Amino acid sequence: MDTRILIVGYGRMGQLVERLAPEYGCQVAGILDIDRNASGEGLADGAWPEVDVAIDFTTPDAVTQNLARYSALKLNAVVGTTGWNARRDTLRLQCEQAGIGVVAAPNFSAGAVLFEAMAAHAAGLLKDQPAFGAFLHEIHHDKKIDAPSGTALGIKAAMEAAGYPRTIDVAASRAGHVPGVHTVGFDGPSETITLTHSVRDRGTFARGALAAARWVHGKRGWFSMRDVLGLQG
Ligand code: NAD
Repeated sequence: MDTRILIVGYGRMGQLVERLAPEYGCQVAGILDIDRNASGEGLADGAWPEVDVAIDFTTPDAVTQNLARYSALKLNAVVGTTGWNARRDTLRLQCEQAGIGVVAAPNFSAGAVLFEAMAAHAAGLLKDQPAFGAFLHEIHHDKKIDAPSGTALGIKAAMEAAGYPRTIDVAASRAGHVPGVHTVGFDGPSETITLTHSVRDRGTFARGALAAARWVHGKRGWFSMRDVLGLQG
């Protein structure tokens, strides 16, 4: 059975989600952009009874309003929109109280989520090797404003949580059109270990969001891509 999705935000990501939906057993039941949802009117009470999951790639302001509407509609959601961390706890509580299922992630690339787990495991292996220093480098296109990336900060936190006790030197570059490369390195006196994750195109984020929509269909609770991928902890 297909998962019927509502695409909320028909920008670059929303259009990719539409294009890739059939590959993931998802059927596009509706599309909402700002022209029909500037104040949440596209998600009014009783709207979209036939939809299983909304996929939201909008703006930080819009997603705050939209999450309240998904709760009111008892509509599960996949939230790819970034930049609303400060309101995260409040919104999470609201969704949990409403009993809906939400997958929220700053990075829906399955490879990036797995890469973070690999970096954490490597950091755990290297934690008792004081001869090795650690670094983390990321590069993105010159339109990306935040630096270091949220993904890089997440990788660093995961390495620290795995017990890596020394400095992890983080550096960021912004140039050209790079969709995103993260490298974790451990440098010893005569050798270097590097692990690299490279995004080739933004399709990876849409693919992850669609896989998450399939996964969260019929579930309740607040989840991350780690849950979708079956990673522990
Ligand atoms: P975009 O600017 O191309 O598209 C955003 C769309 O949202 C626009 O079409 C805009 O009109 C629409 N919109 C604004 N307010 C709306 C509202 N109230 N209701 C419905 N639609 C509304 O941006 P994008 O590149 O598609 O990215 C969207 C968001 O997703 C950004 O926050 C970006 O950082 C994030 N993003 C996340 C991931 C991830 O893996 N989590 C990956 C890529 C992008």
